[in-house]
Amino acid sequence: MPNQEREISRRGIMLVVSSPSGAGKTTLTRNLLEQEENVSLSVSVTTRPRRPSEIDHVHYHFVSRRRFEAMREGGELLEWAEVHGNYYATPREPVEQALSEGRDMLFDIDWQGTRQLLEKMRDDVVTVFVLPPTAAELKARLERRAEDSTAIIKQRLHNALEEIAHWREYDYILVNRDLDKSFARLRAILTAERLKRVKMLDIEAFADRLLVDLKKLTP
Ligand code: 5GP
Repeated sequence: MPNQEREISRRGIMLVVSSPSGAGKTTLTRNLLEQEENVSLSVSVTTRPRRPSEIDHVHYHFVSRRRFEAMREGGELLEWAEVHGNYYATPREPVEQALSEGRDMLFDIDWQGTRQLLEKMRDDVVTVFVLPPTAAELKARLERRAEDSTAIIKQRLHNALEEIAHWREYDYILVNRDLDKSFARLRAILTAERLKRVKMLDIEAFADRLLVDLKKLTP
């Protein structure tokens, strides 16, 4: 059973996880990348300045506004949005390659990007929204982040209101009261989505053959 995914080839899944900043999305997605073999992160392009803890081409591809616009005009971006006054986008090529090779892609993008992916690739996209347990907890989590200034924290709280307003547009909702529980649920979502009949490319041939073999064994 654990090797079913490998034995029966399938198209990759686009797993989109959105939330306001501070709801725990980064920890959840990082854990998923560490513990799930066949999932890779879609590394976004952004015009936002790099934070000290971030590595170029690992967390984001950091680019100038000019370069961003050239990529957008050149059709290199699957979706794009302006968030917190900066541009963010998903490069197209790595996604198309991963899906066709049966590898899953994880997207840490906002509701605007999610909408665009749903419009373009509904059958490939599975969407998850992470909500904080309470408003006070969200505020406290943002304040604990030493990397951002007070003005940025204020802006992020304001943006949280807008992001949360779109929770209804998502397939699955995780209320992140307990990180371990939320993580188990996120994995369960991925596992179930991988097992969907429509995702399995050669399940038809497999089932046909099973029936033929079974008929031969049937007296
Ligand atoms: P941060 O600047 O904190 O890394 O990200 C800010 C917001 O931008 C997050 O809500 C994140 O989900 C969103 N974001 C990151 N990359 C992309 C992207 O490629 N496209 C879109 N639409 N949003 C993104």
